[in-house]
Amino acid sequence: KKITIAIDGFSSTGKSTLAKQVAKKLGYVYVDTGAMYRAVTLFAMQNNLIDAFEFDKEQLIKRLPEINLKFQFNSQLGFAEMYLNDINVEKQIRTLEVSNFVSQVAEVSEVRAMLVKQQQQMGKDKGVVMDGRDIGTVVFPDAELKIFMNASPDVRAQRRFDELSEKGQLVSYDRVLENVLQRDYIDTHREDSPLVKADDAVEIDNSELTREAQFQKVLQLVEA
Ligand code: C5P
Repeated sequence: KKITIAIDGFSSTGKSTLAKQVAKKLGYVYVDTGAMYRAVTLFAMQNNLIDAFEFDKEQLIKRLPEINLKFQFNSQLGFAEMYLNDINVEKQIRTLEVSNFVSQVAEVSEVRAMLVKQQQQMGKDKGVVMDGRDIGTVVFPDAELKIFMNASPDVRAQRRFDELSEKGQLVSYDRVLENVLQRDYIDTHREDSPLVKADDAVEIDNSELTREAQFQKVLQLVEA
């Protein structure tokens, strides 16, 4: 019988890598909800609604109906890519610039309401692995399996730094660490759906766990 698997936790804890792996193994659909918040952020940037100095929340709220998000499976990559108004934005949403603004956009209740609704729709038939911050608490409080991922900020910043460097983005480790800490703060302090571990979630601290060990642990939990 197919179940719903919610994977929540801090940024750069390797949630998406694990979620993709689990989804592939079980033949489930993987939904990266962070990509949705990132795409809304990209929309705000493209329309000059947010920059380092200003964020025009009201205007973004007004224009939310103009945002059409879609995941399209790329069989070559083996996962779904994010489309914003029919344009593949997979690369653009992963930049440090988007990472720097996304938590502010994710604080807006109207944005959350819109995305949570779409996520519930995507997962309504079960057989889904969804990763994010509020999946086990808000989107699918009844999920059969909830995982909460954590790792030390240093380990997370190093991972994100390696990832960005690999993609050829010029960044300093200190700026990446700063971004990780800033997002942690905003994510855990926002009024609407702050990042917290659901009471019934299993916590995995992977500062010292290999990917394979985490993967095996989740598979065990699925079978339990
Ligand atoms: O998972 P990822 O790091 O790509 O998410 C980007 C940002 O989107 C997070 O830092 C968080 O602010 C926001 N987010 C959220 N709720 C989710 C997923 C992501 O608020 N379910």
